[in-house]
Amino acid sequence: MKPIQMVDLKSQYHKIKDEIDSRVLNVIESSAYINGPEVKGFQQHLEEYLHVKHVIPCGNGTDALLVAMMALGLKPGDEVISTPFTFIATVEVIGLLGLTPVFVDVEEGTFNMDVSQLEAAITPKTKAIVPVHLFGQCCNMQEILRIANKHGVAVIEDNCQAIGAEVMIDNYPLQKSGTLGTIGCTSFFPSKNLGCYGDGGALFTNDDALDEKIRGIVNHGMFTRYYHDMIGVNSRLDSIQAAILDVKLKHLDEYIAARQQAALYYNKAFEGHPNIVTPVTASYTTHVYHQYTLKLKNVDRYRLIEHMKELGVPVMIYYPVALHLQKAFAHLNYHKGDFPVTEALCDCVVSLPIHTELDEEQLQYITSNFLKSVELYR
Ligand SMILES: *Cc1c(COP(=O)(O)O)cnc(C)c1O
Repeated sequence: MKPIQMVDLKSQYHKIKDEIDSRVLNVIESSAYINGPEVKGFQQHLEEYLHVKHVIPCGNGTDALLVAMMALGLKPGDEVISTPFTFIATVEVIGLLGLTPVFVDVEEGTFNMDVSQLEAAITPKTKAIVPVHLFGQCCNMQEILRIANKHGVAVIEDNCQAIGAEVMIDNYPLQKSGTLGTIGCTSFFPSKNLGCYGDGGALFTNDDALDEKIRGIVNHGMFTRYYHDMIGVNSRLDSIQAAILDVKLKHLDEYIAARQQAALYYNKAFEGHPNIVTPVTASYTTHVYHQYTLKLKNVDRYRLIEHMKELGVPVMIYYPVALHLQKAFAHLNYHKGDFPVTEALCDCVVSLPIHTELDEEQLQYITSNFLKSVELYR
C-alpha cells in the first residue's frame, strides 16, 4: 500500500509530469517570468471555467482577501462580518486593515455561516459580509445576497476551499461558487483543490470598474505606468505557477470527482455509527471536499488521533481554536460561550485524508482502522 498522506501532491504530479515539465521549461526558456503570456492564458481559461467576467491573479489567497477589501474602499472603523470557524487569513486581513471583525456563528451541519443570525449582526457601520465556503461547500448565498442587497453591503466570498463547487440560486442554472458576490477570492496554495507548486491566488468579479481597480491595487496602486493613484501592494501570480495551474485546471473536474468518490466511500463506511457524524451537504450546493470533516461524539479525540498516527494515518483538526478566542483577537473582547456552535465544533471535529490519489486499498485501511480506534477510545 502507498503511504497515506493528508494530500498526495507527488503522485498527482507524476500523472501529468510530461505536460507540466514542458510548460514550466518553456516559461524558463521564454524568460517571461512575471506577467508573461501564461498568466493571461490561465486567467482567460479560468474565466471560461467559472463563467465570470474577470479573474485577476495575485500572490496568494490572503492577498486576494486583503485586496478585495482595499478595492471596496473599506476604512478603519468599518465592520466586516464573517464566521469564527475558519482559517485565520479571512479575519486576519480584516484586522490588518484596521476594520472591525464581527462574527456570526456557523451551522452545526454544514459548518458554514448561520444566515438566520446574519441580519442581527448588521449595523450602520457594516460594509461587507465575508462568507467562507468552508471545506468545499457553498454558503447559503441566496439568503446572504438578499440580506446584503437589502442593507447595501458588499459580499466578498472566501472561496479558497471551494473552487469548482456549484450553487443554486432561485431556479437559475447552477453557478460556480465565488462568482455570485461582489468579489470572490481564491487560493492556489499547493494543497488547495486547484493548487500550484508554490503560492498563488486570484480574485473574481463581474464588475468592470472593480476589475480595473483591483488590477491597479495588486500592482502598487498603479493605473498608468509610474503614476500611483493610491497605495497598493505588490501581489502577482508568476508565470511558472500560471503554467502549472493552466495544466491542472483541465483536470479540475476530474479531481473534484475523485474527492467526491473518496467522501462517498467514507460516508458509507461510517453511516449510522453512534459516535460518528458524517458531513452534511446543503441542498443548494455541491461539495468539492477540500476537507472531509467528521464530528465525533463521546470519543477521546486526541488519543484516537495519536493511535491513527501510529497506524500511519494522519488525522487532523481543522480548526482546534475558534477565531474569537485566539490571542490575536483578544482586543475584540469576545468570550467563551459567545459562539457556542463554533466552540462545540472545535472540540469534536476531525478531518481524514482526502485527495485525488486515494485508492480503494488506502480507503479500506483508513476506514477499518478508524472504526476500530473509535471503538477503543469511546
Ligand atoms: C487557504 C485559505 C486562505 C489563504 O490562502 P493562502 O493562499 O494560503 O494565503 C484563506 N481562507 C481560507 C478559508 C483558506 O482555506
